[in-house]
Amino acid sequence: MKKEELYSGKAKTIYKTEDPAKLISEFRDSLTAFDGKKKSEAKNKGYFNAQISKKIFEMLEEEGIPTHYLGMESDTEMLVRAVEIIPIEVIPRNIAAGSITRKYPIKEGTVFKKPVIVLDYKSDEYGDPMMNEDIAVAMEIATYEEIEQIRSMALKINGILKKYFEDKEFLLPDFKLEFGRVDGKIVVADEISCDTCRFWDKSTGESMDKDIFRFDKGDLSKTYEEVAKRIVPEIFE
Ligand code: UDP
Repeated sequence: MKKEELYSGKAKTIYKTEDPAKLISEFRDSLTAFDGKKKSEAKNKGYFNAQISKKIFEMLEEEGIPTHYLGMESDTEMLVRAVEIIPIEVIPRNIAAGSITRKYPIKEGTVFKKPVIVLDYKSDEYGDPMMNEDIAVAMEIATYEEIEQIRSMALKINGILKKYFEDKEFLLPDFKLEFGRVDGKIVVADEISCDTCRFWDKSTGESMDKDIFRFDKGDLSKTYEEVAKRIVPEIFE
């Protein structure tokens, strides 16, 4: 059962439960982009993202990847393990899009011969600057061994998700992962949803993710519903 609020982020609110080892993560309809500078709400966004995230966490667990996912408390509330979040955004990239095309001379749509793993320091205040092993160790936010493990988990997850989404007629240019520590283990935390992945429709190449909101490309609720129909068709039965 949910108790007091622990933390409210841009799209989710985290609540304590009676068990200090467990938290409830509520997926809200609010959304932001550009380090919180652009804000809005989209009907059912929290519901679709919670259901998509649930499905992906369950699938990763089945594939032997440890995550913080424990179950669902309601349609929009996920029961998760309380973890110590490592403040690094881990971004596997398969096709160039977004910030990598702005920061480097790489054209949007360039297909990478091997996945590119980008590490960013998770901080709105500093504008999510690039992170590497030495900086993480100097800042004492992770050890070399942890970064190595995170990289190898991210590559494995990328392989699994790329295939999974391709089967659902999506290309997966990139997505963001967060990791946490619990009981001396590294687990996948946060969410994996339309807010944190780029999905391009395989036949039309159109964005079916938060880029709709970032660049005013259309109706976000409708787009997320379309994604949900392919990933979690059972919720529409
Ligand atoms: N991303 C995210 N949270 C962030 C930044 C990025 O979930 O704070 C995701 C984003 O949705 C995309 C991937 O990480 O799938 C790569 O984002 P990028 O670095 O290209 O940043 P953007 O183009 O959003 O500025």
